[in-house]
Amino acid sequence: MKSSAIRQSFLDFFASKGHTVVPSSPLVPGNDPTLLFTNAGMVQFKDVFTGQDKRTYTRAVSSQRCVRAGGKHNDLENVGYTARHHTFFEMLGNFSFGDYFKQDAIKYAWEYLTTVLKLPTEKLWVTVYAEDDEAYDIWHNDVGVPKERIVRIGDNKGARYASDNFWAMGDTGPCGPCTEIFYDHGPEVAGGPPGSPDEDGDRYIEIWNNVFMQFNRDEAGTMHPLPKPSVDTGMGLERISAVMQHVHSNYDIDLFQALIKAAARETQTADLANNSLKVIADHIRACSFLIVDGVIPGNEGRGYVLRRIIRRAIRHGYKLGARAAFFHRIVPDLAAVMGEAYPELVKAQDRVMDILRQEEERFFETIEHGMGILESALKALPAGGTFDGELAFKLHDTYGFPLDLTADICREADVGVDTAAFDAAMARQKAQARAAGKFKLGAALEYAGEATTFHGYDTLTHDATVLALYKDG
Ligand code: ATP
Ligand code: MG
Ligand code: MG
Ligand code: MG
Repeated sequence: MKSSAIRQSFLDFFASKGHTVVPSSPLVPGNDPTLLFTNAGMVQFKDVFTGQDKRTYTRAVSSQRCVRAGGKHNDLENVGYTARHHTFFEMLGNFSFGDYFKQDAIKYAWEYLTTVLKLPTEKLWVTVYAEDDEAYDIWHNDVGVPKERIVRIGDNKGARYASDNFWAMGDTGPCGPCTEIFYDHGPEVAGGPPGSPDEDGDRYIEIWNNVFMQFNRDEAGTMHPLPKPSVDTGMGLERISAVMQHVHSNYDIDLFQALIKAAARETQTADLANNSLKVIADHIRACSFLIVDGVIPGNEGRGYVLRRIIRRAIRHGYKLGARAAFFHRIVPDLAAVMGEAYPELVKAQDRVMDILRQEEERFFETIEHGMGILESALKALPAGGTFDGELAFKLHDTYGFPLDLTADICREADVGVDTAAFDAAMARQKAQARAAGKFKLGAALEYAGEATTFHGYDTLTHDATVLALYKDG
């Protein structure tokens, strides 16, 4: 079953259950300045859950384009490392706005998976929020899932991949306990069942989250009950496609294979299993759709996230031997596989290619020199070592290497980055520039990495002086 057929079957199934089919909203949320990007299907319905917005329907279904590359849900650092995380993905979701609740949500999900998609029930595991006896009983007594495959899980803050059965869009906004459905890809794949110490692996993959929206969290962290209990669900199209196409990795599904082949063609790479091709295939989707939705590479906020993703993609191309702009040439291949579902992509194709090409040409001017410096410094370090933060700053400042890019390269050599020294160098330069009295401080940009964590260095609203200072700009 092709990804496009799965997408359609999901929409059709919930339409047959009285849900209104609602198109995907853009990646830049129109209704929420606190959110960097649309990170779930519920984002466009946020105000409907809180009761501030009214619709003509109480049941909706959508296939929502999402980006998780910043803010509360950030999977940028997982791309290239897990079989199941993307920066851009499509979330299939059904929603109830004060209509049905736990009972029907669980039954619909089970019916779709086991009768429409015909998944074998013994491969499905479920998790429920630790205290949610009601959900537990529905799964066990009504649906008939054996106790061995129902796992109770509480708030799991801090753990990197660990299941967390209390879902929230962000630090504020609608939230509630959830129940999740996992698929067991079999003993050939490493990893334990949800809730076990080795659940980080890719064997038991979370495919569908059903959130019982009950609260709205405010800035102070206080939870206010929503006017009516509601339902918000999300299933990753790429993950369910992997299941349906009998492959273990999302990167082996139809949609991704076309992009991986295109990336191989543009970088003249013979080995289709090369990890860099996966990263490029992932990033072309995020970058193209962000541009479609109005984001332009820049030095702050959303534009800087986009720039960082583009530069990471270029670096992977460089690693494969590319020495000139290649990334933008994959856009027509993307339009070929996703254009039918997203006509706006086809319409914007030329603009997307132009913007990417310009960004690539600019970075290709400095990447060679920057990589030379970075690699020779890395060579001098042992595994487990720490990369000099001053040098990371120089790479950022002079060669356009965002800190997360340097950290990503270092991570491949098992080296961390001295982010405190980076921050200090950044602060020093800002103080100097401030003393020159020529610029304003912009919004804080948050990024949490793996090898490194740094939060919120202020970015710059550039004028001529800063453009000169920041060769990046
Ligand atoms: P995981 O634990 O695997 O990181 P999650 O719990 O963060 O997933 P949810 O916020 O519950 O994910 O989102 C609902 C669904 O969206 C998930 O069950 C999964 O199928 C899909 N999904 C989430 N993040 C990604 C991603 N980065 N790439 C692809 N699909 C994703
Ligand atoms: Mg996640
Ligand atoms: Mg999860
Ligand atoms: Mg989840």
